[in-house]
Amino acid sequence: MQRSSIAKAITLASATGLMLIGAQAQAQDTFEWKLVTSWPKNFPGVGQGPERLAKLVEEMSDGRLTIEVFGAGQLVPGFEVFDAVAEGTAQMGHSASYYWKGKAPAAQFFAAVPFGMNAQEMNAWLHYGGGLELWNELYDDFGVEVMAAGASGVQMGGWYNKEINSVADLDGLKMRMPGLGGEVMNRMGVAIVNMPGGEIFTSLQSGAIDATEWIGPYNDLAFGLHQAAEYYYYPGWHEPTVMFEAIINDDALAELPADLQAILRSAVRDVNQDVLDEYTARNNDALATLINEHDVQLRKLPDDVLAQAQEISAEVVQELADSSDIAGRIYESYREFQDKVVNYHAISEQAYYNARNPDGGTSLGQE
Ligand code: CA
Repeated sequence: MQRSSIAKAITLASATGLMLIGAQAQAQDTFEWKLVTSWPKNFPGVGQGPERLAKLVEEMSDGRLTIEVFGAGQLVPGFEVFDAVAEGTAQMGHSASYYWKGKAPAAQFFAAVPFGMNAQEMNAWLHYGGGLELWNELYDDFGVEVMAAGASGVQMGGWYNKEINSVADLDGLKMRMPGLGGEVMNRMGVAIVNMPGGEIFTSLQSGAIDATEWIGPYNDLAFGLHQAAEYYYYPGWHEPTVMFEAIINDDALAELPADLQAILRSAVRDVNQDVLDEYTARNNDALATLINEHDVQLRKLPDDVLAQAQEISAEVVQELADSSDIAGRIYESYREFQDKVVNYHAISEQAYYNARNPDGGTSLGQE
């Protein structure tokens, strides 16, 4: 009996020891990930998001998880980021969900909805209104997990090589504008062309396109778009923000120990806020530079253009909502949240903006 107990005790001790060694080995495992993006390497604003993410994760994990960031075209083209992550060519990606409308049309709801929610409102819907759960349900079929990873804030209406005084002036223009906004412009007589950011400047300068939108003054100045078109229009009705996305291959994520998963999620959440902060800080100065140093002509989009864009946007968004069960559920959640937040923001954010700046004026440019 005694010998048997001792033998059992020894067996148990060995097994425990092995388990401890196993746990220790797992905690010391290192992971080297690749992150592909749809942006030029190190681009200001949106391109800084993944760079910050990689740095944070390496520091927080004491080097156990390192992430190498690739700009568009370095490992895969900008529009193949989603496939690369789904197939495991890269463990992670940073992009915008409306680029995947060919695979999952409803993905467009999570990037930008014309006349829809701004950055503050989108973040609230995604993180406290069920939006992120729906986004993950949509991507689940592809073996990809998604998190919000930055916002641009309200974008600019775009660059035009001529003045736009009414809807009629849009007719026949060739323009780069992605997502639902592009479809709206298409129905307003504009021929819409899609291309990754890195190709915009050359296309505008060569005359292959007559107009483009990109992001806002900070990024547009960096691309030199003022050297290719003179008129800079606002507001970006088509993109009241773009939410950028971090996408992670499900299998790669599952291989990480729980603490590294927590570090990764925490770092993405940090980046989500940081990208918006950078845009908020830089856009005004960049716009002043565009106007004062590069003689850019700042213009507000004509009222009839905005009114028609709003009317057609409602049709385009409804058609998308009607296109599938999940699109319908996403839009129902989105619209319900927007209705509520607009209702409250009427007497909070909006009332405050109006009280702070009653004539809505700006010291920049001219109308
Ligand atoms: Ca844009």
